[in-house]
Amino acid sequence: MTEEQLQIQSLAREFAEGELRPHAEEWDRDAHFPREVIGSLGELGFLGMLIPEEWDGLGMDTTTYLTALEEIARGDASVAVAMSVHNSLPTQMILAHGSDAQKERWLRPMARGELLGGFALSEAEAGSDAAALAAQATRTDGGWVLNGAKAWITNGGFGDVMVVMARTDTPGDRRGAKGIGAFIVPTDAEGYIVGKKEDKMGQRASETVGIAFKELFVADDQLLGEPGMGFIYALQGLDNGRMGIAALATGIAQAALEHSLGYAAERKQFGTAVREFQGMQWKLANMAVRIEAARALTHRAAAAKDAGEPVSRLSSMAKLFASEAAMYVTTEAVQVHGGYGYVKEYPVERLFRDAKVTEIYEGTSEVQRTVIARELYRQ
Ligand SMILES: Cc1cc2nc3c(=O)[nH]c(=O)nc-3n(C[C@H](O)[C@H](O)[C@H](O)COP(=O)(O)OP(=O)(O)OC[C@H]3O[C@@H](n4cnc5c(N)ncnc54)[C@H](O)[C@@H]3O)c2cc1C
Repeated sequence: MTEEQLQIQSLAREFAEGELRPHAEEWDRDAHFPREVIGSLGELGFLGMLIPEEWDGLGMDTTTYLTALEEIARGDASVAVAMSVHNSLPTQMILAHGSDAQKERWLRPMARGELLGGFALSEAEAGSDAAALAAQATRTDGGWVLNGAKAWITNGGFGDVMVVMARTDTPGDRRGAKGIGAFIVPTDAEGYIVGKKEDKMGQRASETVGIAFKELFVADDQLLGEPGMGFIYALQGLDNGRMGIAALATGIAQAALEHSLGYAAERKQFGTAVREFQGMQWKLANMAVRIEAARALTHRAAAAKDAGEPVSRLSSMAKLFASEAAMYVTTEAVQVHGGYGYVKEYPVERLFRDAKVTEIYEGTSEVQRTVIARELYRQ
């Protein structure tokens, strides 16, 4: 890594160790998101790392951003997912497809961390098959009226601005994936309704809510790009997002390895530290190898993105491998801790739960394999 990357890494590590890790257990227990942490992330520049300086971001490369994100996840995965969604999806979509006026109004404050963003694609009946979404945008004077509901939206309650995918085609002329628009919707708009907060297995501090739109008016200047292109923009956004989830999963796994190394050195059985047993050493080695491989693949995807190469295949590979590595590593971490790994007193119990959803959101592992296979045939 470059000198600058090392500096950012140590800044993120210091913040995560000082401000996140000591509270992670309590936030998980109370399913409480520390909203004030968003302010701190903004002050550090971590909510605008990929946004060019001309729009008040830091204009950094993807590897540097993912290195910081991994460190934040090492401290608390729930904070990391809020950071990942904001950086990867709404901001990148506005940067790529927004007009200068939209960038001025939304992207600039998002880059400074004054507005927190979210991404609203999934619906109760449209998850993996997201193009089957039903939320409807109907043309009206000077804009569109949104009606419908979204499921499992990260930052959907306390966030400030969502990029919402809704149908811009009409009931009489359905156009599938090409009949969807992407809209910039502030969460204080009239008709934006925050529904049920999900009571989750892991990443419990992260806010995941249902949201609904009831006769919600969005002006023409809140539509991103072209009306029928929103789903394509969302998929491009997910190429970025999946690298973020890969870095996040690597951070969870790294934390689990560190706890395991410490525990195996302290815990004595048969008169010696359990780290002296070959059975334990092989576990720790296998864990470390998967983490290094996950990180390398994630950075490979980041380098491709920064070089302007196509990234769908690599970002899906990174997300798939890193999320499965996180499940493997956290499962082994519980095993290394024995009975103590199964109780909440030790952090590996939380890390095991936190890891699981990385195999589900922003496309399940099955969907990643489908994307990878499709891309292999495209070459
Ligand atoms: C904590 C959390 C946060 C989230 N945050 C957001 C967010 O901010 N914004 C947002 O838009 N969404 C969000 N989601 C939604 C998430 O992206 C979806 O849950 C995910 O895409 C899977 O959709 P689904 O849950 O409907 O599962 P389904 O699509 O119903 O899948 C059920 C099972 O079938 C499998 N399956 C489906 N289709 C295929 C296929 N073609 N081939 C093989 N297997 C298949 C799946 O892999 C899975 O195992 C979040 C979800 C969670 C849990």
